[in-house]
Amino acid sequence: MISRATPLKRVLEISSPCNKCGHCCKFNSGLIIEEDIDRIAEHLKMDKDLFILTYLEETEMFHTKAFKLKTEFKKDKPYGECVFFSPAEGCKIHDVKPLFCQTSNCFAYSQDLISWFYLNYLVNPDDAESVRQYASYIESGGRIIPGGQLHELVPDSERLKKILEYEEL
Ligand code: SF4
Repeated sequence: MISRATPLKRVLEISSPCNKCGHCCKFNSGLIIEEDIDRIAEHLKMDKDLFILTYLEETEMFHTKAFKLKTEFKKDKPYGECVFFSPAEGCKIHDVKPLFCQTSNCFAYSQDLISWFYLNYLVNPDDAESVRQYASYIESGGRIIPGGQLHELVPDSERLKKILEYEEL
């Protein structure tokens, strides 16, 4: 079972049976966290700033700034392929792909793996707005893994109440 506290090493073992079908890469792209940037830029022998400018777009999830790989939108379609996806080769940066992509798969546990990533890299219990956005994610049917209940994120029930009632901004 995957919980918020499951170590990265174990998560990578669970997510490893990726058969490189490219399904997820054809319709969206991976999130990028800071630690991915140097590794991928170095692999591509690119200056970090140029890599960011060329391949990344800023995004925000759970009130946390992050990057996303650019997508190449298809004509008349609301989705596009990841800029590093090739129909012939699959992921062109497979050996150094973002942690989000490494810890994702489309088999068993896929939703748990995504929740694990959100909880460990994007949801910030010290940021009231981040907690509120996570609460909305749960309310809209987002997967809750052990350790990911609101009272587990914010054990102080008074503070949690203030956050949810916008008394803590
Ligand atoms: S970086 Fe690779 S694995 Fe991740 S979305 Fe792009 S093509 Fe897919």
